[in-house]
Amino acid sequence: MRALPVLTLLASALLGGCVSVATHGTPPASADPAADDSLNATAWYQTSLERDLITREVFRAAGVHLDAALADPSWDALPRADRDNDPAGLPPAIIVDVDETVLDNSPHQVRMIRSGGSFSEGSWDAWVEERAATPLAGAVEFLGEAARRGVTVFYVSNRTVAQGPATVDNLRATGFPIASADQFLGKGTVVEGCAGTGSDKGCRRELVGRSHRVLMQFGDQVGDLVDIASNTRAGRAAAVAPYAAWIGERWWVLPNPVYGSWEPALFGNDWSLSEGQRRAAKQAALDAGQ
Ligand SMILES: [Mg+2]
Repeated sequence: MRALPVLTLLASALLGGCVSVATHGTPPASADPAADDSLNATAWYQTSLERDLITREVFRAAGVHLDAALADPSWDALPRADRDNDPAGLPPAIIVDVDETVLDNSPHQVRMIRSGGSFSEGSWDAWVEERAATPLAGAVEFLGEAARRGVTVFYVSNRTVAQGPATVDNLRATGFPIASADQFLGKGTVVEGCAGTGSDKGCRRELVGRSHRVLMQFGDQVGDLVDIASNTRAGRAAAVAPYAAWIGERWWVLPNPVYGSWEPALFGNDWSLSEGQRRAAKQAALDAGQ
């Protein structure tokens, strides 16, 4: 009888010890995958039903505004800096970004997670050449309907001009309206009379605006809609602020929690920082509510 409490205590201690070690002290087994900062966001992006519902609701809501946009000759979705002519009377167009706006490239991200690699131009180019990206829910239906109603869709993308043929193939094969390869305006497109820099899309938007009235713009990045003078949280907000009334009417934003200019805005756009330094800056940028 007296031995029982001792055994019970011993068992408790052993069990407690086991629990403690298992939850606090044991390094990951070799079979455990390495930590990756993009895992949860990528899992959400690729597998959640919620993402499909969000993109579908964006494109359906845009469809509701299409009649009004077509009927009103003063309706134009270009930022003022990208428009120096009168759009009334010009044929209608819609501008969409490509990646994570109409096409889903999450398999490329998954490959990086599984290999422990990070983004490289080489692996990205190989993915683009596969022509394997799939449409986001609702995008083909909305843009197809717009095209049937006489709207030209321009794909203003920071895929490069050299990646244009593969991108056009991918878009066509998945059902997007793209009658002419000229509807793809990639990074490196030369726009006469407009000195654009790098990935800024202002000159390419201006080019579309010279020949078309732009009914709507779609993007997963603020820079898809308007050029950002300063990529800080405040600078990004300031770029969009004059157009707040256009959100959900002329400008439409798709979700992308995996990557985007919102991220480097948190570490001073300094990609030379180590991954740990960037992670520290991102943690520091969060608000704990105190
Ligand atoms: Mg994009």
